[in-house]
Amino acid sequence: MALGLQHLERVCGDNGAVPDIEVTYADALSDRVARAESQRAALTAAIEETRAARSLMFADDEHDPDGSTASLDQARDVALLEQTERTLSELAEAQRRLASGTYGRCELCGGTIPSERMLARPETRRCVVCAATEEGRRRGRS
Ligand SMILES: [Zn+2]
Repeated sequence: MALGLQHLERVCGDNGAVPDIEVTYADALSDRVARAESQRAALTAAIEETRAARSLMFADDEHDPDGSTASLDQARDVALLEQTERTLSELAEAQRRLASGTYGRCELCGGTIPSERMLARPETRRCVVCAATEEGRRRGRS
């Protein structure tokens, strides 16, 4: 069957084509990057807005019952923004690893990380076992 043969050629493809899973990884990564970037833009705007609003009511700040809520919101947004920045740099790292061919390998044991895990968390650098070991160690120490 022509269809079956085509499929076989696609799977075995020795014509230097990028394997399908790497295309999928690249898609998943750029999707994450796009989402993180729009989140960063939204957070930056929200922080600016809160800052502007606070500077307007600066004179009343000490007596303003909303003042503490606004600064709580701001602290939360700033924390989220920092987290988003970290995610973005992890994603950039992941894209570099994908380009250099080390993507999908555990940085600790060198094992292949299952594609389901890579797709669920494209910035993952460790396999489940190593991540769990590391997590346990961190918890044991603190
Ligand atoms: Zn590992």
